[in-house]
Formats: sequence, C-alpha cells, structure tokens
Amino acid sequence: MQPITITLNGREVSGYAGMSILALASESRVRIPTLCHDEHLSSVGACRLCIVEDEKSGALMASCVTPLTPGMVINTCSPRVVAHRKVIVQLMLASHPDACPVCDKGNRCQLRQIAGEMDISLTEFQRIPQPATIQELNPFIERDLSKCILCAKCIRACQELVVEGVLDYFQRGFKAKPANIGDLPLEGSECTFCGTCVALCPTGALIEKGWMYKGTTKTTIQTTCPYCGCGCGIELQVKNNRLVRSIPRRGDAGDYNPLCVRGSYGYDFVHSPDRLTKPLVKMNGNVEEKSWDEALKKVAAEFERIKNEYGPDSIAVLGSARCTNEESYLLQRFARCVIGTNNVDDGNRLYNAATLAGLSVSLGFSDSSRFLNTLEKSDVIMVIGADPTSSAPAVSYVIKHAVKYKGSRLILIDPRRTKLSLFADIHLQPMPGTDIALLNALAQVIVRENLLDKEFVTRRTDNFGSLTEVLELYSPKYAESITGVQSEQIVAAARLYAGARQASIVYGNGITQYSTGTDAVKALANLSMLTGNTGRKGGGMIALQRESNSRGAVDMGMLPDFLPGFHNVTDAKARGKFEALWGVNLPTRPGLTAVEVIEQAKLGKIKCLYIVGEDPVLSFPGSHMVRDALASLEFLVVQDLFLTETAKLATVVLPAASFAEKDGSFTNFEGKINKIRKGIKPVGESRPDWEIILNIADKMKSSFSYSRFEDVMGEIEESVPGYEGYTDSSRLYQANDSEAGAGRMQRAQVLRGFARFSPVEYQSPLKVKHKGYPFVLLTGSVFPHIGTGTRSSRAPRLSKFSPSGFVEVNSADAKKLALNDGDKVKISSQAGEIIAPVRISNNIPQGILFIPSTFPEIPVNELFEITLDSQSKTPTSKACHVKIERTDAHGQADSERRSQP
Ligand code: SF4
Repeated sequence: MQPITITLNGREVSGYAGMSILALASESRVRIPTLCHDEHLSSVGACRLCIVEDEKSGALMASCVTPLTPGMVINTCSPRVVAHRKVIVQLMLASHPDACPVCDKGNRCQLRQIAGEMDISLTEFQRIPQPATIQELNPFIERDLSKCILCAKCIRACQELVVEGVLDYFQRGFKAKPANIGDLPLEGSECTFCGTCVALCPTGALIEKGWMYKGTTKTTIQTTCPYCGCGCGIELQVKNNRLVRSIPRRGDAGDYNPLCVRGSYGYDFVHSPDRLTKPLVKMNGNVEEKSWDEALKKVAAEFERIKNEYGPDSIAVLGSARCTNEESYLLQRFARCVIGTNNVDDGNRLYNAATLAGLSVSLGFSDSSRFLNTLEKSDVIMVIGADPTSSAPAVSYVIKHAVKYKGSRLILIDPRRTKLSLFADIHLQPMPGTDIALLNALAQVIVRENLLDKEFVTRRTDNFGSLTEVLELYSPKYAESITGVQSEQIVAAARLYAGARQASIVYGNGITQYSTGTDAVKALANLSMLTGNTGRKGGGMIALQRESNSRGAVDMGMLPDFLPGFHNVTDAKARGKFEALWGVNLPTRPGLTAVEVIEQAKLGKIKCLYIVGEDPVLSFPGSHMVRDALASLEFLVVQDLFLTETAKLATVVLPAASFAEKDGSFTNFEGKINKIRKGIKPVGESRPDWEIILNIADKMKSSFSYSRFEDVMGEIEESVPGYEGYTDSSRLYQANDSEAGAGRMQRAQVLRGFARFSPVEYQSPLKVKHKGYPFVLLTGSVFPHIGTGTRSSRAPRLSKFSPSGFVEVNSADAKKLALNDGDKVKISSQAGEIIAPVRISNNIPQGILFIPSTFPEIPVNELFEITLDSQSKTPTSKACHVKIERTDAHGQADSERRSQP
C-alpha cells in the first residue's frame, strides 16, 4: 500500500489510504480531544470536538471521519481550532445539568475532564435543559438522558460490538435521544444488560445501579471474569476493600472485549452475606465455628486415619473448574503425592469429558482448535448444542458480528428458539438426544453429493471407508424419522456447510451432557474432517467451556487417568518424570471418575471425600443418590465460598477466598492463560484454595516444598507444556495467534500426523420412553445465571433479575393441559419428581419442557438416573422423559387427588 504523507503540526508523517487524520495523529502521539470516538466503534463525527484545521484550504474538519489526502497541512491546535472547540464544549454544557457533585460518573466524566483542560467553567450560552430521567426498574442500569451529549457511543456499542441493536436514535432535532423501540424502559426491550453502553458512555447519562455515588476510585485491578470459559478481561475498581465497579479491560494489544451482564454486574457475590468466614466443624451433630488450626488438624488426622485403615484409594478428591490453574495443579498433586491415589476429578466430567475423549480419538488432540478471533473468518458457522447468547456471550458477539457485518451464514441446531435463531440462515430443531442421527445424515449428504474435500480426506485422514459404510443407513429421510427435522432442511444444511470455504463448528453442553456425548463429538469431528475444515484458519471446531477454568483444570491433571500436560498415569516414563520432580512413588492405576466416586461411596468403598469448590448434590444427576452417598461417608471435607447443599453434609467446611481475593490464572476455552489478581483482602478468615491445600499438606507432614506462591507457578511452567513463561508479570494473558499458545495448539493438532474418521451409530441416550412419560425435559442454564448458580444467585442484581426457577411449557401444550402462567405443576420422571411454576413460551417446541438447573428449590437433577457414557464416564444430565401434572396449593397433583377415596 502506498504511504500517504501529510504535514501534522509542522511535522511530516505518513499513513495509508483510508486512514483518518485522528488515527494518524494518535499513532504520531498527537492528542486530539474527542467524546464520541472509540477505536473499536465506527467513526461518526458526532461531537465535532476533534476538529482540526487544514492550513492549505482553511477548512475545519472532524478528524475522526476525514481520511488522509496527500499533501494535507493539518494543524490540531491552532487558536482558531481551540476557539471552536471551546464553543462546542460550552454548547454541550449549556444543555447539561449542574449535577457534577452528585453524579456517579464523578471524575471519570470525559466532558468534565475536557472542559477542565480548556479552562471552561460556567457557560455564557442560554441554558436548554434536556428531558428528565427515565425511571428504570431493572437492577443494572439507570439512564439520565439530561446528561446525554448525543455522541451515539451507546448506540454503536449496542449495534456493532454486542450486535443486539436495542438502541437507536429516537425522534429528531432537539428531541433526539438514544432509546429502544417505543422509548420504553430498558427492561421492556431485548436489552441483555451487558453494560457495554455504560462502560463507553463518556458522561453520567448511563450509570450502573446498585453502588451509585461511590465516587472516584483510585485502586484498579486488571484481572479476569470468574464466570464462564470465555475468560473476558475485566478491570475491577476497588474502594475501602470493596469491589465497586467492573468494566471491560483494554487488553495488552489494545483489544477490547465487551462483557456480558455477569462480567459487568455479577462480581458482587464476593460481598454476599452468605460468604463463609470461619472454618466449621460438625461435633456430635452440631456445627461449630473453629480456628483454622483446629479444623486443619481434624482434616489431616482424618485423612491419615482413613488412609492407614482402608488404603489411599478409599479417599477421593473432587475439584472444580472454577479453581485457578495453580490450585488445580496443587490439588491433583495433593491427591497423588500426599494421599497416594489417582481418585481425582472435577465437575468437568459432566460437560467436558466427552470433548476430551472424542477429539483425542478423532483428531489426536483433546481440545477445540480455534481462537475466537478466527471465527469471524468463517463464511459458515454451525452452532450446535449451545446457546452462546446465554452461556458464552462473548462468543455470541463474534458470531452475530460475523453474520451481520461479514456476511457469514449461520446454521443453528437447537431444539429451542434462542436469540441466535434471528441470525440463522437455517435453524434445525431436532428432538433432544438425536444429534448423532442428524450429524450422520449431514455427513451422508456431503459424501453422496461429492461435496467433500477429497485432497484433505485422502492425504490427511484415515478410516474413511469405515465411515461411509456406517453412513449408508443415515439417509436424510431416515434421520427425519428420528430427529423430526425435515429431510430437505438436512440436505440444505449439509450443502451450506460443505460449500463454505471455511466453516466452523461451535458446540456446547447440549452435545456433551449425554451418555452418547463422546460419539456426538466424534460425529462433529467427522463433518469437520470430511470438509477439510480441520486445520483451516477460519474453520475447525470450538468447544465452549462452562466454567472459567474448565480447560486449565484439564491441563493441570485434574483427571483420574492423566498427569499434568496429558501424560497418562499408566505411562511409566511420564510417571517417572513426575516422580523425580515430586520425590514420591506415584499410583500406577487410573483412579475413579467423579460420578464413579459417588457410586463407590454409596457402596461403602470410598470412605472419605475432599471436595473443593464443587456442589455435586445440586450439579450431579441423581441428587437423592448423591446426597445419600455423601451422607454415608466416614469423613467429608468441603472447601467453598458458601454453605452449599453439599457443604451442609460435611464434617468440616473450610471457607475459601474468591477470585478477587487471590492471585493465579485461568485458561480459557481458546487456551489463553489469563491472569487473575488479588484486589481485596479475603473476607473474614477465608483463605485462597491453594493456601488451604498447602496448609493441609503441611499438617500431614508432606514433602511439599513451596516457600512462595510463585514457586507453584514456576513448577507449572516447568512441567506443563505450553505454560512456559506464563508467569511473565508484565502481561495479562499469554497466547494469541502469533504467540506460544498458538504453537501449543498447532503442535497438539499434529500429534499423530493425520486425523481419523470415527464411524458412530445413533442410539438414544434417553432411556426408552415409558408410556406414562410423554414429554422430553431439557435442562440448562438460564440467563443471566450459569450452572447451578452458586455465585450468580448470590450476586444481588443478577438474582433480582432472575430470582426463581420455572418450567417452560409450549403454549399449545399449556392449552391442552389447561395451564396458565404461574400454575404449579409436578414434573415426574422414573427417577423422581419436583414441583415448579409454569412459564408459557413459544421458544420451546411442543412435547418438550425446559427447567433451568440453577435454582436449589427446583432440583431438576432429582429427575435423572445415572447413566454413564462408557468412553468419557459422563452421565446423561441434559434430557429425560417426564410427565407433567397440575398441583394444588399443597403440591398435590390432580391425579393424586382423584385417586384418593
Ligand atoms: Fe464473564 Fe463469560 Fe460474560 Fe465474559 S462472557 S463477561 S467471561 S461471563
């Protein structure tokens, strides 16, 4: 590209065609004040503060929207320019209220900052007051449009960054203002309260509710959102040892990721009054607060006793994908070195294990292969078994942006209508659990119509012949008979996917939380390989991860069969390496997976369980059985932030510190290692998980020899491939396209040199339909909560927005059953029954119900029996057959009343 040279404030500088004067000035370190500009939004020249003067023509021009032309002579601060800027600011102030002392924006107000820089105090222009505040009932955002300067940053953020399109200009002239359709309160719109508009608003027109008037904070912490596997960067603002604000973090490379409502307004679970502040010990049936020393001694003594009496494999350790890498690393080392067992696993088993098992067989590596910023390069995106608008909003922003602004086509495969349905070219709605039949049919069409990438299949894969044999059965018509999706739609989706130059597959728990999850992942990998998208830059597969460190926990060896860095525990050479590093003999047999641990506890073979950050009573299927199994243990220790349903059963409960009260790192779904940093002191006497693990090891006189937390990080650098150098304190995350993480992924992709087709047959993961259970129940998260809601339900604003559970019923089904919104119904399966209020919806097809797994008062997992995937040991917890009946005020079903004498 030919450089374009201009004179800027008397100095020759060069840019390129299409570059704005403002961008070149910024690159040349010449500051031009702006209010409406942000480098991540399109430029609109709304505020005009960035005017500059072309000395040749004498023209004043908005530098953000004026492209360079050769030979320009630009002055950014001539007396004429400065005088005009002052008038602009004074005009803005003339219609701005004198509310600075009580405005939540405080010293962060850019209008006030710029007025101060220009020595503008009172304006001599006639005052023109703006319209009054709109009253909002939502718990997150308040608008005071009397402070709006019409910069349109909120509108552009909503349309361009999060692609919701809720806001636009409403009315014209003096009456113009940013508003949603009909100028309703935000809660009456499609707004997801992601907070991006609030973060970008330069004045106090948009402010965060809940902690208003907290003034300017001096302490800010660059850290990582603790909720989902996207791992968005956040800046936490701190005052008097309290978190008072969370805004998107501008990344090391100037990147900017809009947050979702959880990242912006969900951080205050940290200050919940429910936080555990002291160790609790159950003595003779009574729970008593104890000192750390007493509690730790009790834990160490019981671990020693049970280990000596029944052997190390009578103890199991269950961690959480919410723990940091360092904590996961220490926890698995504790299990293996101090206890002497490979019985170590975490909640990942429920939703991530199928990806590990499936992809390692098909592709030779065990994680999704794409960075998020490559997704936009896909001309076709297939989303299956996931609603990223709720579970991984940062991914949904990229998908929506790709569709709306880059021309990507979206194939959505989901029984429910979600927000992505509006963006989909094709929306297939298969019956829950029938994905393998559908995916095999898509593959059959691709092979039959010769749409495959022959070169890739021939040169880079094997076992193609076996695949085609199995696919023969799966005609679109046959798949239609199983899935309920019309064969024409299947053919159209196959053609669209295979016709792409680069196609990505994004999938989630809707695929993996079945006893057939591993086979479904293999079927997806077959599609990606058939079309040669495996290994293409804008193609491949992305497995969404539910928790903040789902991927890191796996890397750290929180698995019963793998040591850190995916070294199999049966591999004597790998074991030898860790034995030398840790100075112990390691157990040689793979341990029990999470659900197997519970089953063995029920049988009396596991006597003691150490649970860190997980709540299996709520999150595992078969809640009754889980509760009974845990209650039957000789000793249960739970380490958590809150007294969870599981913690209530424990003999010892140890209070853990939150993400904001400790240092460490999370690895997100892409493989980026993001740092978390301590911003406040732990509440009460709570301690970081890593410290508690070391405390217990110390009491057990173990050979752990860390004198500082940094020593743990150093050991991870040394022993886990891909984590080399991650402790570099000057960087907030490690790994991007050009960095170490990319290398790690690429290395992993060619581990075996070629990919292998894995033919899979469809089998229903739902137990054969019993005549009396005509509905299929789906479970999952409900926006804005995540998982079982341990943290989000204790974040006051998130909880206020979505306070209680429900069962979603299709309106036609509701009519047949004579149900109205709010009616109480009993939902029963062969495993159990629960009661929930009805919410009528057309987002769910007839014959299907949906219950979120977030609310303890509606324990949906009671409806599931435990059926394990033989490959990944994942239990089915996504769908089951149920019946639904109206109940009376006492929770009695109509049928029960009728059968009474
Ligand atoms: Fe946090 Fe995930 Fe939302 Fe990002 S998308 S802010 S990581 S919950």
